[in-house]
Amino acid sequence: MEKQLQDLRQQLEKQCLINQELQRQNKDLEHRLQEKEKLLQELQSQYHELEAPTLSANESEPAYRTSRAAVIASEPIPETVEITRSRVKKTASETSLIVKAIQKNDFLSRLDDEQTAMMVDLLVVSNLKVGDEVIQEGTEGDSMYIVADGVLVVTQAGRELRTLSSGDVFGELAILYNCKRTATVKATSAVRLWCMERHTYRTIITNKSKKKREQLMRFLKTAQTLKDLNDVQLSKIIDSMEEVKYQDKDVIVQEGTEGDTFYIILKGEVLVTKNVNGQQKQIRRMVEGEHFGEQALIREVLRTATCTADGPVTCFSIDKEVFEETIPIEHLELFDDSKVLQQSRAPVKASLSSTLTLEDMVPVFYQEGRYQGDPVTLGVGGFGRVELVTTLKQGKYYAMKRVSKKHIVSKRQEEHMLFEKKILKAIQCDFIVRLHAAFKDTRYIYMVMEFCSGGEIWTKLKEVGRFDEPIAVFCAACVVEAYSYLHKKNIMYRDLKPENLMMDVKGYIKLIDFGFAKELVRGEKTYSFVGTPEYIAPEIIKNQGHDFAVDFWSLGILIFEMLAGSPPFSSSEPQRIYAKILDGVLKYPPFMNEAAKSIISKLCRPRPGQRLGNTKNGIKDVRHHRWFSSMNWHKLRVGQINAPTVRLIRKGPCYINFDRFPADQNKADEEFSGWDRDF
Ligand code: ATP
Ligand code: MG
Repeated sequence: MEKQLQDLRQQLEKQCLINQELQRQNKDLEHRLQEKEKLLQELQSQYHELEAPTLSANESEPAYRTSRAAVIASEPIPETVEITRSRVKKTASETSLIVKAIQKNDFLSRLDDEQTAMMVDLLVVSNLKVGDEVIQEGTEGDSMYIVADGVLVVTQAGRELRTLSSGDVFGELAILYNCKRTATVKATSAVRLWCMERHTYRTIITNKSKKKREQLMRFLKTAQTLKDLNDVQLSKIIDSMEEVKYQDKDVIVQEGTEGDTFYIILKGEVLVTKNVNGQQKQIRRMVEGEHFGEQALIREVLRTATCTADGPVTCFSIDKEVFEETIPIEHLELFDDSKVLQQSRAPVKASLSSTLTLEDMVPVFYQEGRYQGDPVTLGVGGFGRVELVTTLKQGKYYAMKRVSKKHIVSKRQEEHMLFEKKILKAIQCDFIVRLHAAFKDTRYIYMVMEFCSGGEIWTKLKEVGRFDEPIAVFCAACVVEAYSYLHKKNIMYRDLKPENLMMDVKGYIKLIDFGFAKELVRGEKTYSFVGTPEYIAPEIIKNQGHDFAVDFWSLGILIFEMLAGSPPFSSSEPQRIYAKILDGVLKYPPFMNEAAKSIISKLCRPRPGQRLGNTKNGIKDVRHHRWFSSMNWHKLRVGQINAPTVRLIRKGPCYINFDRFPADQNKADEEFSGWDRDF
């Protein structure tokens, strides 16, 4: 008995030891497994990096956009500005210093000659003493500067970054919009600066752009071939035309060659000559506003004369091929735009539910996790917070956007807010979020929207890095449908980006956030600076006036970002982004297919009139592009396509597809100015 017990004990001890050993081995294995997983993750990310596009020469930039894009909300442009005092005569050496400084600057160097000349004209002198602060970190900027003499130091959070001296430019982003200064600049000697205020610059450049369009319009109206075209069509032609410069004696068109371009002379003079018995004989001299080659636009012709630049000449030109894309030439009288105009004036049907009240809205709370018991916040935007709410009566979920009225007033976004509500109220489209009710109190305005439970495309894109083709095609197709609806109502959206695309429960995409949308009469332009840097079209940066075509540009950027994981023009510095946009060089990652590259390059054409979607067949051309060949547009419209995006949607509590946010601790101040009377 004793012995049996001892045996058993021994066996037990042995088993314990074995157990311990096994546990140790287990731990070891687990540890090794963890190590392996880590290694696998690293290898995967390395693989992605290798596969991902090298989007810029700058190695330090991330392959995938990792942060939400900042938005730029425009401010109203003053109609007129006291500008006469702003023009300051400059000596030749002063001009040369300024021009050199502009040419050296990444962003400013991309502006055209006219804008540069204007800048030279508008810069005014400012003298500083040692210790004077020109700009202060964290404040809003309203001017740009070029150092004439002296030295300044740039600091960020107290740390010295660099010094600036004669010929250096700083604060240049402020000529585009009211941006926060990211550094402080202080004079360390006596300094002379050239300064220019945004208001002056933008007002003048805007007026100049407007005048130029009017002038081009007048010029075009003198062309016999174009006499049947209406203003909307002529405006389209202007959008397709390009500026070309010629030196003295350059031959612009050559007699006897095939002609396919039409020219208007913007500046300079052109000699027209003809070959008569082997001798060049001058027929006439053409000046500013005159045009030549119009026959080439509508029929196959051989040039009947030679046109030569007499001195430097600037022309505005359009090729036959582009012209045909812009205007159906068969009957040079095209569609009747009065219909489109009528549509915008048609009374809008209110779709707001009158039965919901602010008191009916009860918050939904997080059920578990870090913020358990706090109200669910679906998103926090530049302007407001969107919370998940429900009603006790029906138990339906809604997304309720709440924006501080004080904040709106301080950022001068009253019009945008009023318009966002007005537009959303009038919209009934399956690809755009529905607005069910709108309220206000002394502190906030509220918009009760349909709840898009699938979450943001932005979050999903970050989760998977980049979308495979069917998902990207589907998302883009939904955007096309939303655009088609909006543009028919003469509304531009102007803020396309993955952050503003939400999925409903079926994975269908809906546009949200109409803060930048705007109604525009066909053929007219608007001049505000709005959007998100990575998605802004070149004509906005150049202050040339923009219209519906900016939406097609941003669609191209969106398709690129969905397929590549990062937008084509990106940088941590906005002015770098703008420089890249103005360059317009699209670098495609190697894995992108031909059809995708083709649609992106057509949507992101620098001239708005040549952009896919904005040519003569309008949005049809986008739908018919081969990248969309697998899309059944009718089925999409009626919701009969099984969305490939559903696999991105997680199952679980209703807020599972959203990031989580802590509760809002601050109560906004009250605001009584009354701007929201009509809200
Ligand atoms: P922005 O900074 O883009 O101007 P904003 O303050 O105008 O932001 P929105 O973009 O309208 O606010 O919404 C902010 C976020 O709230 C969205 O990115 C999204 O995550 C969430 N959200 C908005 N509307 C809805 C909705 N209808 N359903 C679900 N979530 C929504
Ligand atoms: Mg948004």
